[in-house]
Amino acid sequence: MAYDYDDDNIFAKILRGDIPSEPVAETEHTLVFRDIRPQAPVHLLVIPKGKYVAYDDFAANASAEEIVDFHRTFAKVCAEAGVSPGAGGAGFRTIGNAGPDAIQEVPHFHFHILGGRPLGPLLAG
Ligand code: 5GP
Repeated sequence: MAYDYDDDNIFAKILRGDIPSEPVAETEHTLVFRDIRPQAPVHLLVIPKGKYVAYDDFAANASAEEIVDFHRTFAKVCAEAGVSPGAGGAGFRTIGNAGPDAIQEVPHFHFHILGGRPLGPLLAG
């Protein structure tokens, strides 16, 4: 897999502290913060601190420690945000965009967590 990582992408700048974010969780390998243009009452972005462009890049190339930390943090923030059906929440949707067909705006791997309202059909277009 041949991905080139752009060190000047917005999330790289957030990780460096060059621009502010609203963090909700942080671990050694993972950061979670609020999306600046929320599409639902809960709209979180879960990102690895490592330099991965998209989910397939992360899944193929991240260490086992990074991968476990990312997913455990994902589960923790779903529960804390009150959207986990396993913890009494009404549910959430995860979106992971990769590349132009998915209209990936920021080329640093991230999962969106959307919830807090009925989210409608999976795809609109
Ligand atoms: P993508 O289309 O790459 O899956 O989604 C990128 C997301 O990052 C968008 O939902 C957008 O609103 C969000 N975003 C873009 N710039 C910033 C920023 O500077 N801060 C935060 N918190 N979110 C951002």
